[in-house]
Amino acid sequence: MTAAALAKANSPPQFSITLVESDDIGIIGVGEATIPTIHWFNRLVDLQESELIRETRATYKLGIEFVKWNGDGSRYFHPFGRYGAPLDGALFYHRWIRAKLAGEVPDHQNFSLSTRAARAGRFAPPGNDPNSIFATLGHAYQFDAGLYAAFLRRRCESKGVRRVEGKVTRVSQNPESGFITSLTTHRDEVIEGELFIDCSGLRALLIEGTLHTGFDDWSHWLPCDRAQAIPTERVQDPIPYTRATAHPNGWQWRIPLQHRTGNGIVYSSQFCSDDQAAETLRANLDSAALAEPRLIRFQTGRRRKAWNKNVVAIGLSSGFLEPLESTSIHLIQSGIAKLLSLFPSRECYPEVAAQFNRVFDADVETVRDFLILHYHRTAGRSEPLWQHCQHMSIPDSLAYKLMHFTHTGRIVLATDELFKEASWFAVMIGQGLQPADYNPLLDSVSDEENRAHLARIEQHIATAVGSMPLHEDYIRRQLRTP
Ligand SMILES: Cc1cc2nc3c(=O)[nH]c(=O)nc-3n(C[C@H](O)[C@H](O)[C@H](O)COP(=O)(O)OP(=O)(O)OC[C@H]3O[C@@H](n4cnc5c(N)ncnc54)[C@H](O)[C@@H]3O)c2cc1C
Repeated sequence: MTAAALAKANSPPQFSITLVESDDIGIIGVGEATIPTIHWFNRLVDLQESELIRETRATYKLGIEFVKWNGDGSRYFHPFGRYGAPLDGALFYHRWIRAKLAGEVPDHQNFSLSTRAARAGRFAPPGNDPNSIFATLGHAYQFDAGLYAAFLRRRCESKGVRRVEGKVTRVSQNPESGFITSLTTHRDEVIEGELFIDCSGLRALLIEGTLHTGFDDWSHWLPCDRAQAIPTERVQDPIPYTRATAHPNGWQWRIPLQHRTGNGIVYSSQFCSDDQAAETLRANLDSAALAEPRLIRFQTGRRRKAWNKNVVAIGLSSGFLEPLESTSIHLIQSGIAKLLSLFPSRECYPEVAAQFNRVFDADVETVRDFLILHYHRTAGRSEPLWQHCQHMSIPDSLAYKLMHFTHTGRIVLATDELFKEASWFAVMIGQGLQPADYNPLLDSVSDEENRAHLARIEQHIATAVGSMPLHEDYIRRQLRTP
């Protein structure tokens, strides 16, 4: 992704780009669910939606269904897009809270077109008309990440990126500045450079292996440190959403693609053995396994500086937040966007690196807080992992958000937060938070008017869902698009 974006930005070419990869080492090979920010990146590299659906065997994703996070029988949906009527904006949440505080109110999920479409197995892209209910839709994709990477590699090579197959075994530095000057592969090929992007995954070959930048461990907030992944056969028409099911010792993902389903279990080695996890995973598959479970170890946290000297870490080398909200590919793309806007001159001024680190850190911290919310507010679960998370202390930034929502009904966001009001509302309500108040500006309308407005939206959404194509039909239509 980084090479493809740089190749696009480097036109006409001012510098040369070399991509070093090792087939012997390979890629981590998981990461199939995305979030809507992927559209920005696909546009940047000129990847059309029909091409993406065809090349990566992708399906559409309208959000994530969370099952059993508040105990057996609980279930809620975190939709992409917005709740309510097209022009309601943040006012919708207050309308709904007000109606709820006044008594009976329909499930908040009835007011999200993405949620209702997902559950009905239907899909349509957001409309262009801002007044239409379809403008409230949002979507991303579930795709085969290996095929996505292979497609981008071909695109890079056609744009002049030189790909070197080889294992980096030696890294040379300028003795005075500590800047990296060259990499040497196991075949003794020397690759010199001025700027090095460390995309070496969890190995963090340059940023940690050479520069010893340091790592902030966040496992006291996000205790899962292992995953096992297993593909299964396609069983039915793929559903347009990812499912995350909580288990006694972790949670399991289910990501339907066109040709197979991706599954995996995420757990903490403190609370569960690998054998136990594999057993739970296998017992909860809904079709035949296509391989043995593959174990992946990770540590949750972030590199102290994603940009250090003339090395910029992008991807897992910059840190990892577990995959509950499918945010890693987004963080790669966010790193790329920041790199493009702060692209350094030959001097690689430390101020530029510092600014990159400042904005990237802010990005990662808000995603971290959103993930912690899922683990922390699970009152309906009583197993040791969940009890540990219920009683752990949480970051002040998250505590502030939760306090605001429960006392005042306000969803307080920093300027550039990735997850907006709809996401926080979905997960806070879904995980059982109860707001005690709403914005009093709404008191200019009566209770009856408020209820009538909500009833109209609910009806409007129900009608709109019926008019949307089935997800499978929409995919077929895309596959026929040249
Ligand atoms: C369990 C799990 C589930 C995930 N699910 C999601 C998800 O649903 N959505 C999402 O957005 N993200 C997800 N992710 C994250 C996602 O997998 C990664 O962000 C993504 O795959 C990018 O990884 P990467 O390129 O940083 O590292 P890798 O894929 O590991 O690539 C590293 C590259 O560096 C090369 N390399 C390493 N060392 C050397 C060397 N010495 N010499 C030469 N080359 C070298 C390798 O050959 C490889 O090409 C998940 C991660 C995990 C662990």
